[in-house]
Amino acid sequence: METIPAVGLGTWRASPVEVTNAVKVAIDVGYRHFDCAYFYHNENEIGAAIASKIEEGVVTREELFVVSKLWCTHHQKSLVRSACSESLKALKLDYLDLYLIHWPMGFKSGDEDLPLDNNGMVIPSETNFLDTWEAMEDLVSAGLVKAIGVSNFNSEQLDRLLSKPDLRVKPLTNQIECHPYLTQEKLIRFCRDRDVCVTAYRPLGGSKETVTLLEDPVIQRIAAEHKKSPAQILIRFQIQRKVIVIPKSITPSRIRENFQVFDFELTEQDMNDLLALNKNLRLATLPTTKNHKDYPFYIEY
Ligand code: NDP
Repeated sequence: METIPAVGLGTWRASPVEVTNAVKVAIDVGYRHFDCAYFYHNENEIGAAIASKIEEGVVTREELFVVSKLWCTHHQKSLVRSACSESLKALKLDYLDLYLIHWPMGFKSGDEDLPLDNNGMVIPSETNFLDTWEAMEDLVSAGLVKAIGVSNFNSEQLDRLLSKPDLRVKPLTNQIECHPYLTQEKLIRFCRDRDVCVTAYRPLGGSKETVTLLEDPVIQRIAAEHKKSPAQILIRFQIQRKVIVIPKSITPSRIRENFQVFDFELTEQDMNDLLALNKNLRLATLPTTKNHKDYPFYIEY
């Protein structure tokens, strides 16, 4: 089974002009795992950085763990292979280590990533993710991807997938939003009990407009006690829970800082204090999709 490196670089909202340098810096400081997606519209520039570091001899392809995601407008079985090939071409790779269904909801196919109706709500497709999964399994058989997984799936959706009678390939991970304000203990336990690992996205709470996790007094206190930054505490928190974590930064000093998380340990008390901050605060809600039959956030977990 593929093992996912514990810390990866997130690349959402890393602008095409900045992301090439960010990925190069990340490879130089030791990152091997890159979390990409068609939807981020920067895979071409990420691919340029990877190609240049392989060419320089800093890393080999085999040492890297590159993830991409199938966007919702490509859920139709006949579109999955071409969507994957498009990401491969942009990333300049001949295989992905992991390919995820980005969200359980399928949208109308076409040029727009978020096709909306007159009420501003997303136009669904007729697809369902169990069929999409079969086309994902075909990518493994074809050698285009080493492993497949899901993202933003709730426990019922994951259960439906795992209970599929003719399941050929199990999902390696469920990538979900996770941080001390949304600790996801129940969904993590659910995944673990079924041998599906968990990847935490938005581990720092995203950009400042939305939440001030990095300024939380409890996190700041723990950071001061360990002489580490709040971001390092948030990343270490996931490592110690055995949750894979993918902080995003395009700032070289922060890219470095976010990887310096293997030289200290949070105490049990620290971990409990961080877990106690949970308030089920979900930041990624994709509101235009909330009428979709497969919208994942209507049940507890
Ligand atoms: P993060 O929680 O990773 O936060 C990123 C923000 O934190 C950026 O504004 C970054 O700024 C800032 N930052 C990074 N490091 C530090 C630091 N050490 N100190 C202070 N600020 C810091 O949010 P994301 O939403 O980007 O989530 C991470 C990744 O998860 C995404 O990039 C993407 O790859 C994935 N993701 C997946 C989703 C899914 O649906 N599957 C949804 C959302 C995210 P700057 O870059 O300017 O340095």
